Amino acid sequence: MMKTCTKCNRLLPIELFSKRRGRSRIDGHWMYGYYAQCKSCIAERKRIWRESHPGYFKEYHKKHRVLKPIIIKVCPNCGNEFKTNKINQVRCNKSCLPMTPVRIMKRYLKQHPEIDRNVFFKDRYKKRSREYHQNWKQKHKGRGVLKS
Ligand SMILES: [Zn+2]
Ligand SMILES: [Zn+2]
Repeated sequence: MMKTCTKCNRLLPIELFSKRRGRSRIDGHWMYGYYAQCKSCIAERKRIWRESHPGYFKEYHKKHRVLKPIIIKVCPNCGNEFKTNKINQVRCNKSCLPMTPVRIMKRYLKQHPEIDRNVFFKDRYKKRSREYHQNWKQKHKGRGVLKS
């Protein structure tokens, strides 16, 4: 099947036309399914349009890019003000964290390099597990004893 391009007026095989949903004129008849202009004419038209609209797509993206507003927040840890565009950000910076017992301990060890970490943690662990054991015993006192 052949079709005449309305732009370049060449009689071309139908494969050189893009398919479309609407109807178009093929061999003088209205037919469904092809563009009136051949693929190369459409490509050329697009190219010319793009050249006469330089930066159009760039501008489009610039316009439509969602700019996140910068918010000024107060860090709950150090109390300093900071600027962010992340809604979820709470602290002024990742390493600005409240002093938990673990962190206090780590800082203490850093300040006292003479303390052997392993010994320190071992003692701590031992103490803790002993406490835990005693607590457990107290909590479960009388349990497991069958009532007669
Ligand atoms: Zn054409
Ligand atoms: Zn902070």
